Amino acid sequence: MSTNTFSPVSNSFRQDKIGLPKKSKIAVIGAGAFGGWASLYLLRSGFDVTLIDVWGPGNSRSSSGDETRVIRSTYGANEFYFKMNVRALELWKEHQERWNTKLFFNSGVLWFCYQDKNPLIDDSIPFAKKYKAEYQYLSVEQINKKYPSVNTQDIHHGWFDPFGGYLKARESCQVVNEAFIKEGGKYLLVHAEPGNISNHKLENLRLSNGEKIIVDAYLFACGSWLGQLFPEYLGEKIICTKQEVYYFGVPKEQSALLDNFPAWIDLDGQDYYYGIAGNARRGFKVGVDIRGEKFDPTFGDRMANPITLAKAREFIGHRFPQLKNAPLIENRVCPYENSPDGNFIFDRHPEADNIWFLGGGSGHGFKHGPALGELVANLFT
Ligand SMILES: Cc1cc2nc3c(=O)[nH]c(=O)nc-3n(C[C@H](O)[C@H](O)[C@H](O)COP(=O)(O)OP(=O)(O)OC[C@H]3O[C@@H](n4cnc5c(N)ncnc54)[C@H](O)[C@@H]3O)c2cc1C
Repeated sequence: MSTNTFSPVSNSFRQDKIGLPKKSKIAVIGAGAFGGWASLYLLRSGFDVTLIDVWGPGNSRSSSGDETRVIRSTYGANEFYFKMNVRALELWKEHQERWNTKLFFNSGVLWFCYQDKNPLIDDSIPFAKKYKAEYQYLSVEQINKKYPSVNTQDIHHGWFDPFGGYLKARESCQVVNEAFIKEGGKYLLVHAEPGNISNHKLENLRLSNGEKIIVDAYLFACGSWLGQLFPEYLGEKIICTKQEVYYFGVPKEQSALLDNFPAWIDLDGQDYYYGIAGNARRGFKVGVDIRGEKFDPTFGDRMANPITLAKAREFIGHRFPQLKNAPLIENRVCPYENSPDGNFIFDRHPEADNIWFLGGGSGHGFKHGPALGELVANLFT
């Protein structure tokens, strides 16, 4: 859940059409939030799509592999992402109904603000009005009344976004993949590597089962692995960092209360703690948005950093006093696949006309999956 990269990003997004004829063959490599949804929308657009993932949709090494992800519209003065979130929310709701599987939890998102002015939220308010997704201002007294489990001592005010909430993450990737297969897509559980490039074209894709695939276009949606697959172009552009989330055990008296708590984001200006309730499934989740150390998504050990954990523990005891000394019941390490400015990357390989990159989710990509998939498929048609 990344918030701190978003004030400087640009609003612009070049949308040149690719214009592949219908029934063209496309291989999508990576079945996470980006590749999974893109493959589904490409299939629905009439392409012959093969989706490939080495460890499966929402696997524990991937960025999409945690339990839950926040969905919120707030992006400072950036209307592009605000609008894409509005569309994504529509599509999440539409699909969970279509698939009869609950993926979106409309718990709302509660922002804890330390100062009078907070551009990340304040600059989104005109869009919230424009797209009829307005937030509610909460004074400290109102927070105390509505959420008595919160310590508001250092908080100036809050904002509540009643339209947001959280999504089931790894489970969504699996459900999207099942839908893709049901709707006629081909799915392979293998590792894929780009073959040679000649005459401005990738010749083929080499699979770990010894086979080769030749298609009209190759869409690499490999999350944190993109930099390793294309080191000359993306090695410095997609930087993988170790991010940690912790699941704390709530006291038995607080179980229902904290299960129904909104997703929350603490704008402390340093570590940016955030959390998601749903403790009936895993525990009271706390994440730390500050960038961790560089990380190898394949071989990196997924052990918690004791310093980061100690800080998160201290914070949670401060903000939710009933959780002081709460036991850690689980922890996860997920990689962020950071682009230089936090924007997503969708671009053509500079040397091969039939290779496309899709990635750079930068800690905020999950929620956009369906809207981004739809956008990418539109550009391909
Ligand atoms: C701790 C944490 C918190 C986050 N919080 C939020 C949040 O609250 N809200 C939000 O919207 N976003 C959030 N994000 C960001 C979001 O989860 C990511 O942006 C998104 O999941 C990226 O999806 P992806 O498909 O690009 O990558 P991934 O999910 O990593 O998928 C890439 C896939 O490619 C496969 N692969 C890689 N290389 C190969 C290969 N050579 N051959 C075959 N398969 C390959 C992998 O197995 C993997 O399944 C968070 C991320 C983290 C880490």
